[in-house]
Amino acid sequence: MSDVIKRLVVVGNGMAGVACVEQILKHAPRFEITIFGDETHVNYNRILLSSVLAGERSADEITLNPLDWYQKNEIRLRLGVRVVDVDAEAKTVTGDDGSVTQYDTLLLATGSSAFKPPIAGLDRDGVFAFRTLDDTRQLLERAGPGVKAVVIGGGLLGLEAARGLQVRGCEVTVVHLMATLMERQLDPDGGSYLAGKMEDLGIRVLLGRSTTAIVGNGHAEGVAFEDGMVLEADLVVVAAGIRPNVELAYKAGLRVNRGIVVNDWMETSDPDIFAVGECVEHRGTCYGLVAPLLEQGKVLAATITGNKGPVYSGTVPAAKLKIMGVDVFSAGDWSEQHAEPVRFEDRALGIYKKLTVRDGRLVGAILVGDTSDSHRYMDWLRSGADLTAQRRHLLFPPPASDAGLDIAQMSEGATICGCVGVTKGAIIAAIHEKGVNTLSQLKEQTRASTGCGSCTSLCQDILRAVAPDFEEDGKKVLCGCVPFSQDSLREILRSQRLKSVQEVLEIYGNGTGCEVCKPALSYMLDMIWCGDHDEDRSARFINDRVHANIQKDGTFSVVPRIRGGVTSPAELRRIADVADKYHVPMVKITGSQRIDLLGIRKEDLPKVWADLGMPSGQAYTKGVRMVKTCVGTDFCRFGTQDSTSAGIEMERRFEHLYTPHKVKMASVGCPRNCAEATVKDIGLVGQEGGWQVVVGGAAGKSVRKADLLITVETTESALEAAELFFQYYREHANYLERTYDFVDRLGIDKVRKETIYAPESVRAGLLDRLRKSKAASHDAWLEGQSPVNPTQFIPLQPIENVPS
Ligand SMILES: Cc1cc2nc3c(=O)[nH]c(=O)nc-3n(C[C@H](O)[C@H](O)[C@H](O)COP(=O)(O)OP(=O)(O)OC[C@H]3O[C@@H](n4cnc5c(N)ncnc54)[C@H](O)[C@@H]3O)c2cc1C
Ligand code: SF4
Repeated sequence: MSDVIKRLVVVGNGMAGVACVEQILKHAPRFEITIFGDETHVNYNRILLSSVLAGERSADEITLNPLDWYQKNEIRLRLGVRVVDVDAEAKTVTGDDGSVTQYDTLLLATGSSAFKPPIAGLDRDGVFAFRTLDDTRQLLERAGPGVKAVVIGGGLLGLEAARGLQVRGCEVTVVHLMATLMERQLDPDGGSYLAGKMEDLGIRVLLGRSTTAIVGNGHAEGVAFEDGMVLEADLVVVAAGIRPNVELAYKAGLRVNRGIVVNDWMETSDPDIFAVGECVEHRGTCYGLVAPLLEQGKVLAATITGNKGPVYSGTVPAAKLKIMGVDVFSAGDWSEQHAEPVRFEDRALGIYKKLTVRDGRLVGAILVGDTSDSHRYMDWLRSGADLTAQRRHLLFPPPASDAGLDIAQMSEGATICGCVGVTKGAIIAAIHEKGVNTLSQLKEQTRASTGCGSCTSLCQDILRAVAPDFEEDGKKVLCGCVPFSQDSLREILRSQRLKSVQEVLEIYGNGTGCEVCKPALSYMLDMIWCGDHDEDRSARFINDRVHANIQKDGTFSVVPRIRGGVTSPAELRRIADVADKYHVPMVKITGSQRIDLLGIRKEDLPKVWADLGMPSGQAYTKGVRMVKTCVGTDFCRFGTQDSTSAGIEMERRFEHLYTPHKVKMASVGCPRNCAEATVKDIGLVGQEGGWQVVVGGAAGKSVRKADLLITVETTESALEAAELFFQYYREHANYLERTYDFVDRLGIDKVRKETIYAPESVRAGLLDRLRKSKAASHDAWLEGQSPVNPTQFIPLQPIENVPS
């Protein structure tokens, strides 16, 4: 190509236009690039709008190219400017701001708009499309608990919109003109399975309904149908299909059918105007998916930059529904015309599979309820492989290949990311040649998993299997035996209902485990199932196995629980007798108001516990250590609150529970802070008229002043705030993460938002799970012994009597 700098004007700042510009930049041509986009946002991943609506991602998280990408590549970005005219003779485009811009080469990437069906009242307030980030934001403003939402259109977009609104608390009805849902992607049987699944989620589905009007006084109040029925609605989403944006092409005098007609090099009927994306029609087809437009972009970039050669010959259409728990996949031509259907269905399992085979080759696939084999089918569809020899294993792969996910058996050329067209070989090359270890790095290097996201788990499987230092998106994996981050593991244990360490290791790990993962898994299982799991003591640390702290000489220390540091003469006598009887070499008052019997032989431990007749102080485990208290209003002239009773009650509520790391607490009667509550994991600080509850403090190897969680008036409110934080920490912290690191990592604002200021149902859930765990917990020293007479414990002052 010549050295003359050419002016490239791109109309449309969407996925197709910008992806094509990215390819053009790779060819390093001499272009002066201007991009017009009538939306006010930088290029974002439109596919993920559904997950923004459902609250799974923020708007920022779906940005594909931030502003500095345009700046770095010297692209002039005209955001919020709509191109209203093209003069193909003068080679200019006119913006709605009156600007006229000259081009040498024009690229139309105007995409599609939501189709407006002939329904009266579509202009009423409360009626929305679901196409852009602005549409999504408006929907989010209106959606909420109790809002009645009607989605017109039971296609992919309509169903994703319906689920998003329902997750936001709306009562949702999907109304569809046709007799089955997603009829363009599913046959009637597949559609009926899908309808069942949507109903199971609590979304009402009305089929075969023709909508005639949105009724209401200025704003939407209902949706009227041809049969006379009217459905109440505060919010209406019209998702009845899309139409390619072709107005500018008409104005430029280009050849247009349904879309802008392009040939296999993506050229239009004007040699200086090209088109890409949803606005084009190629060999009679207009696509509404990302994969084709990325393939088109590559071809077009070559054509435009003087490297004309590669051709675009069409894409096998494939669609996946992005609703968690409703797995739907459809690809190719699944009609049974001139093809043999191969089917499997199981109503009880909610699984429906249909493949269509022509001349021994796969031509179409429908999967509902189990899409784990979709990559295998896409591979066959794209390659056109002869499957005659594999007929027995079309629907179900041979057992060894693990539902199509066996990485080793996949060919290097197998496509992993269908949207961007990234193969297994390209991913492995990125791992070996570019040192890729995380999904983010993989996205950056190959663009894999940046489309609809359905290949994410497969990409992670490859990383897990191949990358030497695999990290799950910046989060360290637990260890080499179970290479998943702790967040993922908690999710896996919950969703797969796994209840034993061995089970987890066998399914997700190396079958054996180690000193790092086994105690962590033991903790997670205990916490998730509130004690209703298969406890495997051999998976715990040595201290937990013997319920005592091993010392450097091999003997053990025994610390009985003395709640709130308050003991009695009887207890002190028993402790003294035990010390004499077992020749305890050292009896020591600890820094946390306890008595430590040091130097006890392992074989004496059970007898010592029995003779003491006191609960375990858990000084050896990742659990609740103690609640240190001051004397408070009982005896101190400065005391404003009964810190002793509050501390004892707090200890009683939390003792015997396992935590990610040790938890130390304190309760003080006034801000003089004699028991150092402000440097504890949880502290109660009495003050005139109430309590401050502080969390995340430390005064050990790390020193950190605790953050204020909340100020409350009553002791019960203070204890409840402590309980909310305590359970939240148990559920969200990584194993071996102290509260001070945890609070620091999350920030106190997030902790507050998700505990004390969380919705009522969330708070109730935290308290409920804490209480279930507490009910299932027991004193480790009582295992295998006759129960300790509860009257031997000091009497506790009931919390009702605590002044507040
Ligand atoms: C909610 C949702 C979910 C989806 N899910 C999937 C999925 O799971 N898988 C999949 O493959 N596809 C999915 N899609 C479709 C996919 O997003 C589109 O295929 C893709 O975005 C099309 O890209 P495009 O650049 O051709 O068009 P667009 O993304 O529409 O971009 C065109 C841009 O040009 C702008 N524009 C138009 N005319 C002008 C003008 N005259 N002047 C200036 N600017 C103009 C438009 O405002 C727009 O910003 C989904 C779409 C939506 C809305
Ligand atoms: S913290 Fe306050 S109430 Fe407690 S002992 Fe010290 S001065 Fe007294």
